[in-house]
Amino acid sequence: MTTQRVILTADDNQQIRMLVKAALRSLDHELIEAIDGEEALELALSRSPDLVLLDVTMPKLDGWEVLRFMRKRPETADIPVMMLTTAAQQADLALGESLGCNDYLTKPFTPADLRAHVERMLDG
Ligand SMILES: [Mg+2]
Repeated sequence: MTTQRVILTADDNQQIRMLVKAALRSLDHELIEAIDGEEALELALSRSPDLVLLDVTMPKLDGWEVLRFMRKRPETADIPVMMLTTAAQQADLALGESLGCNDYLTKPFTPADLRAHVERMLDG
């Protein structure tokens, strides 16, 4: 029996949030959702999730800004973060690395892809 973890997923696209939820349901962790970068940062600080999945393009704060703030705050500095990027954002991967991003997944992804990445990050 595995310990239940808290996973925060932040994406302004409702379909992506539903896809993530459906893909991760079988892992039986608690999933919390943010619809923009500001909410993502608030939830990261208040809920101390075990893993954060960040969309790059979001209103209020984009994913890179959320990551940058998280790494500056001691409460969230060590939380593993995976960025969900589109192919067009591949050029930004070096930026993500410099900001302390732990993993990337390119959209569109399959549910199995997402589960594999999440399980690896939670085990690692
Ligand atoms: Mg988006």
